[in-house]
Amino acid sequence: MHVLVTGGAGFIGGNYVRRLLDGRSDLAVDRVTVLDKLTYAGNLANLAPVADHPGLRFVQGDIADPDLVAKLFADVDVVVNFAAETHVDRSIRDPAEFIRTNVLGTQNLLDAARAAGLPRFVHISTDEVYGSIDEGAWTEEWPLAPNSPYAAAKAGADLLALACARTHGLNLSITRCSNNYGPYQFPEKVIPLFVTTLLRGGSVPLYGDGLNIRDWLHVDDHCRGIDLVLAKGESGEVYNIGGGRELTNRRLTELILDACGADWSAVRPVADRKGHDRRYALDDSKLRTLGYRPRVAFEEGLAETITWYREHTDWWRPLLSAAPGAPTGGAGASTDAD
Ligand code: NAD
Repeated sequence: MHVLVTGGAGFIGGNYVRRLLDGRSDLAVDRVTVLDKLTYAGNLANLAPVADHPGLRFVQGDIADPDLVAKLFADVDVVVNFAAETHVDRSIRDPAEFIRTNVLGTQNLLDAARAAGLPRFVHISTDEVYGSIDEGAWTEEWPLAPNSPYAAAKAGADLLALACARTHGLNLSITRCSNNYGPYQFPEKVIPLFVTTLLRGGSVPLYGDGLNIRDWLHVDDHCRGIDLVLAKGESGEVYNIGGGRELTNRRLTELILDACGADWSAVRPVADRKGHDRRYALDDSKLRTLGYRPRVAFEEGLAETITWYREHTDWWRPLLSAAPGAPTGGAGASTDAD
């Protein structure tokens, strides 16, 4: 099977490409083409562990480029679309690129998929399209009520993807996952931002009262869920991927401080993010009926992740100039995974 992974040089897409090629995936994949624009968030170093694999081909390019995408779709069996602008704070400051890539880019992929008669398409989305929920958990039928420009652009893409499945019969499924963590995450997102800042002896910015709640899932569990949806998901259906660990941002901060040998004196309260969603929570029972179970316990996954950042300063130091909150970077803050 030949899989085209868009955004495969990013955090989750990179993990997915490594998984397909290093034997962790049960899917019978012999070729992987990565299409990635290499924005500030894309990094070829994320593919270094599989760079010499004979089945890997990397193409630098834009998912919104019709000619390039049509050419690449000619001989692939499956497309998994991770490519997106992903940082909520950036979307609040400057939403245009989010509309261009997340909405128009996705529509371009859908058009090419129809034209090529693509056998299978998996579109990667997020729980943020549902908005914010005080109690209970979202099922896939929940109305979309996104609050940030990032989430609104992702919701737009989801609706276009479902419309393409329903109108044209494209064999397409959507995944909506909760906050991911793990190695190779760009240091503007909360866990790598806090860890890399504390490892350098800096102070970390905590939004508002710190009581916003997120459900944290290890990136390996997310990618395991994507494999399952690719293989067994039905066309025109959405699958939530969650089941990690619900934590307030304060509690998450405490755990990171402990693991990095720091205390609350290293925390700098900052004004809350505009329109900051209070809580995300997913009901993932639909995917569980296909056999999904998250496997990485949060405490272990977090400890391993922090160790990874400790041991890979060569990976993250060069990225700091593009990461907000870094001494050499801008003045923003982030307490979200995406
Ligand atoms: P990321 O920002 O780390 O990576 C995005 C990748 O897409 C980068 O490699 C970038 O270069 C590439 N890209 C951006 N614009 C492109 C374009 N126009 N053409 C081609 N490539 C382009 O993001 P991530 O955290 O790995 O997220 C991947 C996907 O998963 C996104 O669709 C996101 O919405 C979704 N998601 C993320 C999370 C999370 O916690 N990070 C949770 C749920 C869903």
